[in-house]
Amino acid sequence: MGDFIAYVIPNSKYAKLVKEYPLSVPAFGSGGKTSEWRLEKPVIDNSKCIKCLICWIDCPEATIVRNDDDSVAVNYDYCKGCGICAKECPANAISMEKEG
Ligand code: SF4
Ligand code: SF4
Repeated sequence: MGDFIAYVIPNSKYAKLVKEYPLSVPAFGSGGKTSEWRLEKPVIDNSKCIKCLICWIDCPEATIVRNDDDSVAVNYDYCKGCGICAKECPANAISMEKEG
């Protein structure tokens, strides 16, 4: 299992760790892009974002992208639209919008 995850995320900080300990980490799904069935998507208002990174930490799919300046974005290929990031954002900077 560890070797599998290290293969999926070869250059991540987890790659060495998972070879030493039996940990699992969020990884992009092997079942295809979730954007194909997502009903709602999170939209980030960067003018409200305070760069607390709670969304980046709490996203269960690891699809919040952290930029070098700690601003955040969404990887819409793999976001499943669960809304956790919008619920947890303390600045109300993320809104869920219907797809299509
Ligand atoms: S809606 Fe869910 S999967 Fe998508 S970025 Fe937010 S927490 Fe992650
Ligand atoms: S939780 Fe909200 S305020 Fe914090 S980094 Fe994410 S979008 Fe910005």
